[in-house]
Amino acid sequence: MYGATEDLADAPFIALGIHRLEIPVPFIEAGGPANVYAIEDADGRWTLFDTGIGTADGLAALYGEASARRVDLKRISRIVVSHGHLDHFGNAQHLSEETGARVFVHEADVSKLTGEWRALTELTRHRAYFERALGLPADVIDELLARRSAARDLVRYVEPSRLGTIGEGEVLRFKHFDATVKHLPGHTPGLLCLHAEAQRLFFADDHVLARVSPNPVLDLSLGEGDSKFRALSRYIEGARWVQALELDAVLPGHGPAFRGHRALLEGLFGFYETRQKKLLAALAEPRSVYELLAAVFPRRDLPRLLLMVSEVLANLEVLEDAGRVRRVASPDGVTRYTP
Ligand SMILES: [Zn+2]
Ligand SMILES: [Zn+2]
Repeated sequence: MYGATEDLADAPFIALGIHRLEIPVPFIEAGGPANVYAIEDADGRWTLFDTGIGTADGLAALYGEASARRVDLKRISRIVVSHGHLDHFGNAQHLSEETGARVFVHEADVSKLTGEWRALTELTRHRAYFERALGLPADVIDELLARRSAARDLVRYVEPSRLGTIGEGEVLRFKHFDATVKHLPGHTPGLLCLHAEAQRLFFADDHVLARVSPNPVLDLSLGEGDSKFRALSRYIEGARWVQALELDAVLPGHGPAFRGHRALLEGLFGFYETRQKKLLAALAEPRSVYELLAAVFPRRDLPRLLLMVSEVLANLEVLEDAGRVRRVASPDGVTRYTP
């Protein structure tokens, strides 16, 4: 989408004990079916990197894909979750119950796996932030809340007793290779990738995707004020680090493996710069995040509204960090931005 990448077949990765299981995702923003990577351990068991979505269809697809590839889901040694999104950790609780395997995740995303943090409760708990800091009208928030309750059936949350944390620099040993855990916050605060340096492979989950931009989702789990997670600013830091890597293949969270990460990321940085230029051009008078949606999105789309708001806010934060916009208080109490 942003730069030419070349899709790669699964065969060379299977030779390294890496089996990609494709699990359908019932919402379009994900960018296609999610990948579960079953990776062979030295002792004949399996490590899972991600688990797919926890719907009945998702679970059935996981078992179907596993048996087609002779991956024995009864012999899972550990479950590593890349980040706290439903299409990646949805079956973790089920698989842990079936096998006793522990579920490992970065500590910054633990609250997403346990269900303590949810997008729905974020809207309720931080309603004043959405109204005042972002300028969302009260009736729009009510509409979003009415829609969001439908998300409940997509997941089983993970019991805290099954969870362990994992983080930057830890090494995972497999039958055919070792991989180093990289903490690359952005898409979520606790997002993890795996880097098999000797094989020049990078398990990127949603940090680098060939077909969609990794949404810098609004996330208040670290607070609203100075501690607020600045998704895109952090994302770009991490993506620049990945861009510098020497890689033969990226194994993403959605879609086939590909090569061409450098041009892809260059195109993505250009995409965000274009967004930022459009936002600056729309700031002849101070505007709120909500008022700026029309500057970058041709139409308001309720199911995607929080992603749109997230993206505008994230780009404004990048501009703010660069000293190109600042926040001003307005008489109606809503925060607006001005160059
Ligand atoms: Zn995600
Ligand atoms: Zn995803």
